[in-house]
Amino acid sequence: MSLRFHNTLSGRLEEFVPLVSGKVGVYVCGVTVYDRSHIGHARALVTFDVLYRYLKFSGYEVTFVRNFTDVDDKIIARAQQAGISTADLVETNIRSFAEDVKAMGCESPTVEPRATENVDGMIALIQELIDKGLAYPADGDVYFAVDKFRDYGKLSKRKLDDMIAGSRVEVDERKHHPMDFALWKASKPGEPWWESPWGQGRPGWHIECSVMSTKHLGQPFDIHGGGTDLIFPHHENEIAQSEGAKGKAFARYWLHNGMVNIGAEKMSKSLGNFMTVQQAAGRVGGEAVRLFVIGTHYRSPLDFSPDRLDESGRALTRLYETLARVDEALKGEAEAGPAPAVLEEFRTAMDDDLNTARAVGIVFETVRTMNRLLDEGKVDEVGVLRSALKEISSVLGIGGTEAVAFLERSKQDHLADAEIDPAEIENLISQRNAARREKNFKRADEIRDQLKALGIVLEDTPKGTIWKIEKR
Ligand SMILES: [Zn+2]
Repeated sequence: MSLRFHNTLSGRLEEFVPLVSGKVGVYVCGVTVYDRSHIGHARALVTFDVLYRYLKFSGYEVTFVRNFTDVDDKIIARAQQAGISTADLVETNIRSFAEDVKAMGCESPTVEPRATENVDGMIALIQELIDKGLAYPADGDVYFAVDKFRDYGKLSKRKLDDMIAGSRVEVDERKHHPMDFALWKASKPGEPWWESPWGQGRPGWHIECSVMSTKHLGQPFDIHGGGTDLIFPHHENEIAQSEGAKGKAFARYWLHNGMVNIGAEKMSKSLGNFMTVQQAAGRVGGEAVRLFVIGTHYRSPLDFSPDRLDESGRALTRLYETLARVDEALKGEAEAGPAPAVLEEFRTAMDDDLNTARAVGIVFETVRTMNRLLDEGKVDEVGVLRSALKEISSVLGIGGTEAVAFLERSKQDHLADAEIDPAEIENLISQRNAARREKNFKRADEIRDQLKALGIVLEDTPKGTIWKIEKR
């Protein structure tokens, strides 16, 4: 099967054929850097990181562009509240963002342009729209005239009349049509501003993506991504701006990831029901956050709960425990080629609109098979499966860490979080061994329970008692 994507523009599953053979241009709307990212952002970040990796895995040369929105009402408001400059707020949040994506193992995009570094391009595009009669200045602002662009609504499948009926449109005397949107906003005192033909001001949000995408990828380009909450109005407006100005197609395939829900609600800053990436990664590790995200197909809603996150943490530990066992069994053996059947199954899943849920299923089925083979002493059959998992981990970004190191680190993290001294654990184990020698099983069990309450589980092996972290 060839690679297929569900294209929001056509509403169908379509075979992916890039504009230029062997090359792919991808643009994904990045974050507005006014605060830390939450799990809702993590979903888009991980989804398109997997897309990026899978395109490369499939042999494409990929140019991946993801922007930073670093001028915006929320940024200005937040900086004013904090009594700092917008530039300082932006730098702080971009640093936090870098920590979050690193924790989740996301690769760096080819380019990460910032809106404020591309204002000249935005002014030029706005001027082009005015010259074509698609936009008009009004009191220092500039608006896009939606009823002058015939295809307005083609991505979100909405008609202008329904949009007005379906939304609370604020009456604004300056607008020719209630759905007209701002391309340029006159700056108020104390706000960041740039000189423009319409006076001092700053760009509206939508125009930046029209400019930064085509600057790096040309027009048209192959794939535009983002969350479903961006389809309208953001992506609809990007299309109107770019296609209106240039008279040619903008992006060819539109991929949208579903929202993260808590109960029946969407996770969002405004609802206050979010968990930040930092909190989630602190709880289970960034790689488990990633596993949590890709365990569900990107277009489906993703139900979040701390328990489900913990479940991903436990699943990841199981994966690494098996990998550690396999690596130990294969020590000294030459590396085998990857099992073709497993890789083929993986490709089939990913070619089918990036079915990562299925791909994760394949990883854990392979884990079970490897455990069974090791139990049966069939070590020589395990090498090819281990190699297949290595290849798969290069795309999914899970299971790629050295297993023993991963397990050791999560042990240390747990001890640090719970403020447990490993020497104390060893001491309790000796006490338990002594109690057992004295056939004082009640005391031995008490010690075991005491450790279990601290999240430490004991395992009695032929080589003696070892301890492990019990995942939440
Ligand atoms: Zn955008």
